[in-house]
Order: sequence, then structure tokens, then C-alpha cells
Amino acid sequence: MLIIGSHLSISKGFYACGKQAVDIGANTFQFFSRNPRGSKAKDIDKEDIKKLIELCEKNNFGKLLAHAPYTLNPCSKDERTRQFALETMSDDLKRMEYLPNNLYNFHPGSHTGQGTEKGIEEIVWLLNNVLFEGQTTTVLLETMSGKGTEVGSRFEELKSIIDKVELKDKMGVCLDTCHVYCAGYDIKNDLDGVLDEFDNLIGLERLRAIHLNDSMQPFNSHKDRHEKIGEGSIGLDAFERIINNKRLKNIPFLLETPNEIEGYKKEISMLRSMAK
Ligand code: FE
Ligand code: FE
Ligand code: ZN
Repeated sequence: MLIIGSHLSISKGFYACGKQAVDIGANTFQFFSRNPRGSKAKDIDKEDIKKLIELCEKNNFGKLLAHAPYTLNPCSKDERTRQFALETMSDDLKRMEYLPNNLYNFHPGSHTGQGTEKGIEEIVWLLNNVLFEGQTTTVLLETMSGKGTEVGSRFEELKSIIDKVELKDKMGVCLDTCHVYCAGYDIKNDLDGVLDEFDNLIGLERLRAIHLNDSMQPFNSHKDRHEKIGEGSIGLDAFERIINNKRLKNIPFLLETPNEIEGYKKEISMLRSMAK
């Protein structure tokens, strides 16, 4: 069974969010760990989380994916920004343990002029300070499109981050189809070649989630504009191959397409109808 869902808002609580996922035919979902631009996280409601966990079990949900706020940048040249990243992620990972055995995704960040190598060093430093022995959450580096000074648009960069993390078994990768395509990985015409490259450098066992987005921008553009599935430069045929690729079996697919809830519902049912 295809594990597919979309980004949803947890503003009405975790259980309400899980119910909404079921309503749209999803068996996973992504949510922001806190306000995507701000820093305030809601208090944990244990009863609400307990109800969500029961709902997930009852409906055979795959792993859930928390997404760190966009303002989190562990490799900024600004020290306060790095400090914010440290505090936020550290707090998020503690909170994630109320929802054990799930996934936490973040953007490796933008080096803002310090250079990629220095950026990688700072990201590794962050991870070595926030990951803890005994955590059940897997932390995912998201593949980026390479706009501006973004780190993580090359598999080599992700590999060199993971290589230097002490608690490597807590680390994985979330592949964003829009981002990799715009970063110059041709998942439209050579999906298997891209997966081979990923496997050789990082290892496919590290690939733990996929953001399923079409792209408004062309191949290798280093831009980051998501499009509805089948309406962008990647195209529907490529998505049919992606969701049916044997090596991507059992990996959760999360939509971050420009849609309201009805649009997500339609995309999920369309993708389910294409699943073999
Ligand atoms: Fe993201
Ligand atoms: Fe993404
Ligand atoms: Zn994006």
C-alpha cells in the first residue's frame, strides 16, 4: 500500500490533523514542528497526542514527518541565527519523543557567504549538539534546489554532513522531487541513474521520506517553486514512475504542492489510482 499524505496544519491539534488526513485518503502527513516563521511552539497536549497515535495505528499510518521552521538556519554567518537553530531543534527533538519513532526534517541551511565547507561544519556542529542517545526520532536532511547560498543541493554535501555526525544512526535524508530536479538531478528522464548516484554516495537505506512536488521552474534552474503534480516541468509520467519504483517502496510520500485540502485529496486519489 502506497504511503502518501500531504502537509497539514496542526493548528486544531494533532488528533484533528490525523482525522483530516484520513478524510483525504492519506496514511501519513507532514506538519510544522512550530510556527514556520516564528519560534513559539505550542504546549504538548498528551491526551491529544495519545488519540493521534491510536488513530495512526488503527489506520495503518506510515511514519509522520515533522518539518522544522523555515527560519531555522544552522549555518548562517549570524551567530544569533545559529543559536536560534540550536535552541529550536534541541527543543523540537525533545518534544518529538511524545510522538516516538517518527521523522524530523530540516533544511541544512544557507551559508550566507561563509562558503559551503564552513556551512557543512556548522551543520555538523548543530547535529552533534542536538542529537541524543536514546532518541527515537530520525532526523532528515532535505535535499535543496541550490538557490542562493543553500547547502545540501548536492548528494556529496549531504554525505559529508552525515559522515561527520557522531550519532549517524539517527540520520536520514528527505528527497524533495522539485528541489533535486532543479538542482540538476534528472528524475524525469533518468530516475534510476539518480537513485544509483544517491545509493553510491549516501546509501538508499538513508532515504526515509520523499517530498512529492512538481516544479514551476525548469531542470537545473536552482529555483524552488513547487507546482501541482502533473502541472509542472517534471510531469505526471515521472511521478507514476517515482511512486512505483521498487527501490522507493514503503517510503512515505508527502505532498507540498500549492493546494488547499480538496486539492490534496484529489492528488492523493490520483496517485493512488496510478499505484501498481
Ligand atoms: Fe522543506
Ligand atoms: Fe520539501
Ligand atoms: Zn521547496
